[in-house]
Amino acid sequence: MVRAKKHLGQHFLSDKNIAAKIADCLSGDFDKVCEIGPGTGILTTPLLENNSIKELKLIEIDTESVEYLKENYHDKRITIIEADFLKMDIKSIFSEPFAIIGNFPYNISSQIFFKTLENRDLIPELAGMIQKEVAERIASPPGNKTYGILSVLIQAWYDIEYCFTVNENVFIPPPKVKSAVIKFTRNKTKKLDCNEKLFVRVVKAGFHHRRKTLKNNMKFICSQPLPENELLTKRAEQLSVEQFVELTNLADGLC
Ligand code: SAH
Repeated sequence: MVRAKKHLGQHFLSDKNIAAKIADCLSGDFDKVCEIGPGTGILTTPLLENNSIKELKLIEIDTESVEYLKENYHDKRITIIEADFLKMDIKSIFSEPFAIIGNFPYNISSQIFFKTLENRDLIPELAGMIQKEVAERIASPPGNKTYGILSVLIQAWYDIEYCFTVNENVFIPPPKVKSAVIKFTRNKTKKLDCNEKLFVRVVKAGFHHRRKTLKNNMKFICSQPLPENELLTKRAEQLSVEQFVELTNLADGLC
């Protein structure tokens, strides 16, 4: 047994059927897989039953869990790496496209996603368990109350599927929040039709005050007023990714 450490976001899943369901979320199109935070390996076990996986790298920060994994998992396809995923160079995990999976530490799930976005061309798919509210936000379409910065930035590069909800009582210890499994599949977009760095700033500024119009919120990053445009009369939560691209082009040179 490994004692759960709160500061590492350790909530060990105790239901093997749910672990198998998470493992099944991968398409099977990629034979290289990286599991973030395997803990004592409840999700690792069904991943090993998947014959399409040829190489499985486990990234785990907790020394005690790493020791447990080394003692109990001897499959030749596995490499166990004791490391902080957030500090790793993604290219050092695999130099070819690979899938990411995990029952993620919830306190760093957004950071895992930002790192995924930065390395999107190496990560064609990701399936993971996170806090339910975060999963809902990411999967949310425009016009929805939960649509926000994460939704736009992730949906610009990935198609999102909200897979299923998971009750807190299947974890040891149970988390205070409900959980959900979400899946990202890289979309066809190779490049946004605008300055991509400015796009990120525009999206963040746009949601600065959710209730205000974009005309107001753009003042946070633009030194000059933007030319009249219908988009500016809307609120950020109403804009699709494509409309954020349009807004970025409107702001380019004025921010
Ligand atoms: N997959 C296991 C454990 C989930 S809890 C299960 O479902 O039971 C989250 C796991 O992520 C823990 O094992 C924790 O030690 C690990 N973890 C936390 N922060 C991490 C980081 N920065 N890098 C890698 N692993 C991390």
